[in-house]
Amino acid sequence: MSSSNIQLHRNDLPAGISFGAMVAIDTETMGLRPERDRLCLVQLSAGDGTAHLVQLIPPSLGGQGYECPNLRALLLDQNVKKLFHFGRFDIAMIRQHLGIETSPVICTKIAAKLVRTFTDRHGLRDLCRELLSVEISKQQQSSDWGSPDLTPEQLAYAASDVLHLHALWAKLEALLAREGRLALAEACFKFLPARAHLDLLGYEVPDLFSH
Ligand code: MN
Repeated sequence: MSSSNIQLHRNDLPAGISFGAMVAIDTETMGLRPERDRLCLVQLSAGDGTAHLVQLIPPSLGGQGYECPNLRALLLDQNVKKLFHFGRFDIAMIRQHLGIETSPVICTKIAAKLVRTFTDRHGLRDLCRELLSVEISKQQQSSDWGSPDLTPEQLAYAASDVLHLHALWAKLEALLAREGRLALAEACFKFLPARAHLDLLGYEVPDLFSH
């Protein structure tokens, strides 16, 4: 994949970009706790080989913080499905920092867990390798995403997390149909924004559904 397929935008998506009926989304953050850790980057792709990376820069660093009307409009657009891998985290991060509930959503990790019951390996890297024969690197995963100047390695890594989600979902959707679990998957996806909200309210442990 050449770097010309990566477009970095500061503060917001430019107006007029269309992602079609389904947009793949991932986020990079300062850490794993939404109440503590800043949302730094939102990656988006239409599944066409191009990744748009929106860097959210705090006012203290000269940016416009979470004022990103074009990105917000896309996240709220009911006619565009948002495709995540482990969306539970990204949806909670978006809710915490942008103050919006993004929907409708699809999650390839939930889909994988519903059909690939012969394995407990549902990471993006494993799924890309086994279902798409694509190797993606996770090397930059725990790097400093709060830096105003992201490295080419960080940008390539961030892009790779959204570039293959459409292809992955096509494979998983076929497997869900094959195993008769498409309706169950759809029910899980519908609940996912509420699950993320519950996480933010502190219902992560113990889980709401546990005894
Ligand atoms: Mn990522």
